[in-house]
Amino acid sequence: MVYDVIIVGASFAGLSVANSLKTNRVLLIDRKTPGTLPTSACAAPLNFLLHQKMEDSIKQIINEVSFKTAYGELRYTTLVPFATFDYQIYCQESLKRFKGDFLKANVKSFNGNIVLTDRGEFEGKVFVDATGWRAKLASALDNSFVFRNNLGFGLETEVSAETSELNFIFDPKIIKGGYAWIFPAGEKTRLGLGTYFPSSDLLIKLKQFVKSQGYEVEKIHGGFMPYGLRSPVCHNVFLVGDAAGQIVPLTGEGIRQAIYFGKKCAQIIQSFLDGNLSLPLALLKYARFVNRHRGGYILFSFLQYLWLRLPNFAIELISRTLGRSWTNLKFQKLYFDWMKA
Ligand SMILES: Cc1cc2nc3c(=O)[nH]c(=O)nc-3n(C[C@H](O)[C@H](O)[C@H](O)COP(=O)(O)OP(=O)(O)OC[C@H]3O[C@@H](n4cnc5c(N)ncnc54)[C@H](O)[C@@H]3O)c2cc1C
Repeated sequence: MVYDVIIVGASFAGLSVANSLKTNRVLLIDRKTPGTLPTSACAAPLNFLLHQKMEDSIKQIINEVSFKTAYGELRYTTLVPFATFDYQIYCQESLKRFKGDFLKANVKSFNGNIVLTDRGEFEGKVFVDATGWRAKLASALDNSFVFRNNLGFGLETEVSAETSELNFIFDPKIIKGGYAWIFPAGEKTRLGLGTYFPSSDLLIKLKQFVKSQGYEVEKIHGGFMPYGLRSPVCHNVFLVGDAAGQIVPLTGEGIRQAIYFGKKCAQIIQSFLDGNLSLPLALLKYARFVNRHRGGYILFSFLQYLWLRLPNFAIELISRTLGRSWTNLKFQKLYFDWMKA
């Protein structure tokens, strides 16, 4: 059987594409059972989760954010409420809604027409690479597709404690060139460290940070964060989510982006399947749509570049300025309007 669409990667990006397509002749492949291995702290704007009817996955709704530096602390209310959610429930619920075929298999290679997995070969008309930072399909067609020099890295643990606000901590004594976070998630709290460069001692630093907060590290998860928008198409492949570098530089927010671009990608692919667009035009249309957001990515890359070079007291000063009501609200409005549910 030749599938209409083959999607590799069944996390935020792949599931968003899969559930936004009308055709059932879709093969969704992942090497893991969806939801079993989180990489993320799983915090996203509440309206995105509600829009997808993912209420059951929500662990905690958060309106208060605190930014701490070595010099002080700033608290404010978010314009848009955030929610932390359960990755396993999210993925399993998305998978239940999916009407095509799911295959648990590891994709080994791809020649442009056939996906080779450890469970056989599969042919499709359209391919979607939603494999995260590795961009497995695009890398198989172009081995220079992934730039390894703009990969950040994050590690996180979940401890049994109840907290109430999102905390971001910028303190070089905890981590240089990155930040720490504390996210409430119901009866648990997620504590993590992210750096804008891969770092070999992140685990040691995470253990020290968690201890400094009065907890012990439990199970650990994490992964790479590919900063810098990549090409959203590669030959005949559509790329979505981290595979296309759609995670936002500086903030490290990537879930909303994976879902947002995933929906648009599916809409355009469906137009091709319905005979309203040729495949080259569909690829072009998706690339144009993603590229319309490139200005925002360039701005956040620049802010990340500055952030890494600023002394901690300057970060404190900026946080204070952005913390004033009108600048704070304006900045938040721009940020959230950039990609809406
Ligand atoms: C520690 C950490 C915390 C984060 N916290 C947040 C947060 O709170 N909020 C937020 O918005 N963003 C957060 N992010 C970013 C966010 O996790 C990513 O942007 C998001 O997961 C991207 O989704 P994705 O579907 O593109 O890729 P992924 O979630 O990486 O999924 C890729 C999928 O592809 C599958 N796959 C890969 N290779 C193959 C293969 N060869 N064969 C078959 N399957 C394959 C994988 O098994 C996986 O299921 C965080 C990232 C990290 C590292």
